[in-house]
Amino acid sequence: MAIDLSVPDDVQALVDRTRGFIRGHVVPLEDAHDGDIAAAGGDEFRVELQRAARDAGVFAPHAPVEYGGHGLGMSDRAPVFEEAGYSLFGPTALNIAAPDEGNVHMLAHIANPEQKQQYLAPLAHGDIRSAFAMTEPAPGAGSDPSALATRAVRAEGGWRINGSKWFITGADGAGFFIIMARTSGEPGERGGATMFLAPADTAGIRVGRHIDTLDRSMVGGHCEVFFEDLLVPESAVLGEVDRGFEYAQVRLGPARMTHVMRWLGAARRGHDVAVAQVAQREGFGSKLGDLGMIQKMVADNEIDIAATRALLTRACWELDRGEPAGNATSIAKTFAAEAIFRIVDRSMQMCGGLGVSGDLPLARLSREVRPFRIYDGPSEVHRWAIAKRTVGAAKRALRDSK
Ligand SMILES: Cc1cc2nc3c(=O)[nH]c(=O)nc-3n(C[C@H](O)[C@H](O)[C@H](O)COP(=O)(O)OP(=O)(O)OC[C@H]3O[C@@H](n4cnc5c(N)ncnc54)[C@H](O)[C@@H]3O)c2cc1C
Repeated sequence: MAIDLSVPDDVQALVDRTRGFIRGHVVPLEDAHDGDIAAAGGDEFRVELQRAARDAGVFAPHAPVEYGGHGLGMSDRAPVFEEAGYSLFGPTALNIAAPDEGNVHMLAHIANPEQKQQYLAPLAHGDIRSAFAMTEPAPGAGSDPSALATRAVRAEGGWRINGSKWFITGADGAGFFIIMARTSGEPGERGGATMFLAPADTAGIRVGRHIDTLDRSMVGGHCEVFFEDLLVPESAVLGEVDRGFEYAQVRLGPARMTHVMRWLGAARRGHDVAVAQVAQREGFGSKLGDLGMIQKMVADNEIDIAATRALLTRACWELDRGEPAGNATSIAKTFAAEAIFRIVDRSMQMCGGLGVSGDLPLARLSREVRPFRIYDGPSEVHRWAIAKRTVGAAKRALRDSK
């Protein structure tokens, strides 16, 4: 089996440019605003950051070339996104923050030519932002998407949508919504979902409060959204009716991995900060970095970084081959979300009081990476899915052997 982990020259050049841009331009801006993108200026700040990224030749590494991007596949995205993630504002600068990056990916694969023109083109160029509206308050869709309760019913010339969503990232100020709604079946049934596209200023879409979550780095917050007799034309259907859950997988597998790439960059920054600190701070007659228990934390961080990258590489390889990669992305996401949190937590510990202060970026990195163990599927749900596949295969093997 041939294993080639080399990065193509053009991708390496983009990695190097991204590193220079993020560390030279974006990290200082993040530090100046303590990683709070609303405090930095929200959407106006995003536009300025993206202009700078375009000037630096690092904008939209993921978007198709015909929409002004670099057209990178999953494996090539990994090192570039990791460099972007070194700053909490980096993904926004490159237009690869959630949910826009995942939405670009899904629209490129599923939208028809008119929808691509109306939604994908301005999104890929950074002219507008988007939101992906799936999660609902209880008893609606959360970890279990089949609980989907938002309804779309046929109306003259299209569909009428009613329901409420929450935790919708980027909803405040988004240019359009991708709405997951039930078009057949009942909550609890596995099929029957459809995705709809709707401009955010359509009558019947109302953005409610920003839910006050731990993190501060995503433009437009995480909001409640209400669909109240929202009328959309037939042309608003993304793909085909009743295939929404299937399309969600087209988005979610790669989107999980791009989250891993970005947060790995953040974790690496935390580790770098801690290693620099323990290499110079004296204690008990030596550098802290020469004490065994600190060395264990340094080594465990290195191991978590390397293992995350290895699992990511495997999952991206499967995705680039056109495989669903359900198990590989679940394994990589679960491990990475927990490893990244551990890396940042150990880094704080190594820095002592400074680690939890605003003088270093570690406290803010910690608050940003914690929610990753919940969104894109909580760790428990991925473990449940991995175990179901494993035990299912063993049961089938047992049956076949009889
Ligand atoms: C910062 C942030 C941003 C988000 N952005 C978006 C967005 O843009 N669009 C969107 O649609 N949603 C978004 N979400 C919502 C996110 O996808 C959900 O929070 C997630 O799917 C979990 O659903 P829930 O919150 O309803 O938790 P619940 O479904 O209530 O689950 C609660 C807990 O129960 C446990 N659990 C659940 N199922 C199982 C199981 N099978 N076995 C064992 N334990 C289990 C897990 O520990 C889980 O954390 C976001 C969430 C956050 C925190």
